[in-house]
Amino acid sequence: MQSTITPQECAQMLGAAERVVAMTGAGISTAAGVPDFRGPNGLYVTRRYDPETVFDIDAFLHDPEPFYDFTRDFLSVVDRIEPTVAHLFLARMEREGRLRCVVTQNIDFLHQRAGSENVISVHGGYWTSRCLRCGVEWDFDTLRSWVEKESVPRCRDCRGLIKPDVVFFGEAVKGMDQAAAEVMEADLMLVLGSSLTVYPAASLPAMARCPVIVVNKGPVGLAPGSDRFFIDEDLDEFFEAVGAAMKS
Ligand SMILES: [Zn+2]
Repeated sequence: MQSTITPQECAQMLGAAERVVAMTGAGISTAAGVPDFRGPNGLYVTRRYDPETVFDIDAFLHDPEPFYDFTRDFLSVVDRIEPTVAHLFLARMEREGRLRCVVTQNIDFLHQRAGSENVISVHGGYWTSRCLRCGVEWDFDTLRSWVEKESVPRCRDCRGLIKPDVVFFGEAVKGMDQAAAEVMEADLMLVLGSSLTVYPAASLPAMARCPVIVVNKGPVGLAPGSDRFFIDEDLDEFFEAVGAAMKS
């Protein structure tokens, strides 16, 4: 049987905590308008992107165009959105010195734009890209300007294939050791908008030695436990209520 808590109880637990670690998945960004890739309105569905092709490293090496088509769409969506209540809530907790870090599975920049500084992006991101042949690196703005003009950008030095540092299927996730260490030292863990189905990141909550509060619409792949609390509600509504309770 799953236990749950109210926003007021969540606010009390957060108020007493000093080393909160948050882990976030696609669900924290859907309210901002980022397509939940796999959801009914996700890019995978509406634009017929097949994630097995777009993010498969062998498919990319054979034909990078589907990935760059996706990238153009994705970046144009990301431009039009703003961080959500939940993103801003986490950034504020970090500024107040009570949140250690955010471990995110997302590649949408929203935690950074909300003001979070200590973000572990286990699935990488578009911040840097590199030539797979000669290893030269570029920053996001450079890659972006090329992606807007060319269907598949190529290395200026050697014409090699350029790959952003987004983690593809079949590639190692980033920062898992650091994320695991943070989780094991946390005194409260939040899991927000993740169904905990994409491994190995999904294994992190089970490493926690502290209470774990899961806020996610829909089922979650984490077994019930005496220190585990499950809230099946809209993230922004829940954290608006938590924020109000913490101020009162
Ligand atoms: Zn090169």
